[in-house]
Amino acid sequence: MSKTAIIIGGGVAGMETASQLARLGIEVDLIEKQSRLGGHLNSWNHLFPNRRDSKEVFEYLELGINDGISLHLNTEIEAISKTGERFTVAFRDGKELYSDALVIATGYEVFDARKKEEYGYGIYDNVITSVELEEFFRNNKQNNLFEGITSKRVGIVHCVGSRDEKAGNLYCSKLCCVTGVKQAIEIKELLPDAEIFCFYMDLRMFDRHFEEMYYEAQEKWGIQFIRGRLSEAAENPDHTLLVKLEDTLTGLPLKMKVDLLILLVGFVPSPETRRLAAMLGLKEGDDRFLSPADEHTITNSTAIPGVFLAGTVKGPAGIANTITDARATALQVAAYLK
Ligand SMILES: Cc1cc2nc3c(=O)[nH]c(=O)nc-3n(C[C@H](O)[C@H](O)[C@H](O)COP(=O)(O)OP(=O)(O)OC[C@H]3O[C@@H](n4cnc5c(N)ncnc54)[C@H](O)[C@@H]3O)c2cc1C
Ligand code: SF4
Repeated sequence: MSKTAIIIGGGVAGMETASQLARLGIEVDLIEKQSRLGGHLNSWNHLFPNRRDSKEVFEYLELGINDGISLHLNTEIEAISKTGERFTVAFRDGKELYSDALVIATGYEVFDARKKEEYGYGIYDNVITSVELEEFFRNNKQNNLFEGITSKRVGIVHCVGSRDEKAGNLYCSKLCCVTGVKQAIEIKELLPDAEIFCFYMDLRMFDRHFEEMYYEAQEKWGIQFIRGRLSEAAENPDHTLLVKLEDTLTGLPLKMKVDLLILLVGFVPSPETRRLAAMLGLKEGDDRFLSPADEHTITNSTAIPGVFLAGTVKGPAGIANTITDARATALQVAAYLK
């Protein structure tokens, strides 16, 4: 009998792992709880670092989903177990699937900005998240967002729910700085007269082309970067927002009026991933993302033989790194099955 693999999660990581395994001649079942593949990629418009349309990346991934892959959409998992070397995955509708290897590619969630009550998300209409801004761009509805706003002063708040002991997340989400800089430029392209302020603690533009985008934001678009953590946002009677922060470069408290506040929400481990991990007895790190067997050398396998990880279940990562990671997972699964 040929060996089979079950992949849980049909985002970037799950799609690419499935595609690579199918190419290697391994039969794959790909399980996705939503009605379509793509995961968070479906929410983004133009991607950093090169502003490419996210639909192009989806199309590339979709090409890899071929006949060797049995797709199970709208499928929720009830239980997972391992007997001998075989896995059984039971669905909520009572069906069961069996395999020789299991890949957890269930991704991440974004931080719930309501938990930072002091920033006014969910209370004031003009406080939105970076995810919502992407949706406005993607659905071509950005004009609705700026309707009624005349002076167009926009604040962008970094590290919302990341690097924040109170929020319970000490880690850096790695990609919100570049998302904020990209979105600042996109707003300027749309509204050349807008004044844009990024409130940051440090700028972590670690990857290729990120730093250049930061220079472009300052030099070409005049976006202003203010070093300091926001303490609160409150609504003025005219629906503008008063933001308070300490400028940590000058040590002075600052109060500013803005028309719109965008919160750069970070990655958080998905409760669903943690539920599946608990069923399998998989280890999670102090940050609650899943831990591989070894942080340096075997980053895609786990302490449980036959269980592999792919993508952002292991922590914040962009699409290129997720695709590379998924390919590494596929090779490790194939080697294990041999
Ligand atoms: C605001 C923001 C903007 C971003 N913009 C960019 C960008 O411009 N460029 C870039 O390179 N990266 C960007 N990223 C990062 C990008 O979203 C990730 O790299 C990518 O989504 C990771 O893919 P993934 O498959 O690991 O996770 P996900 O996209 O989270 O996919 C996981 C999939 O698993 C499914 N799933 C979860 N639980 C289950 C379950 N129990 N059963 C079945 N299915 C399940 C989910 O429905 C989902 O389809 C951005 C991130 C954020 C937060
Ligand atoms: S990437 Fe930037 S905004 Fe995101 S958590 Fe790290 S420092 Fe904060």
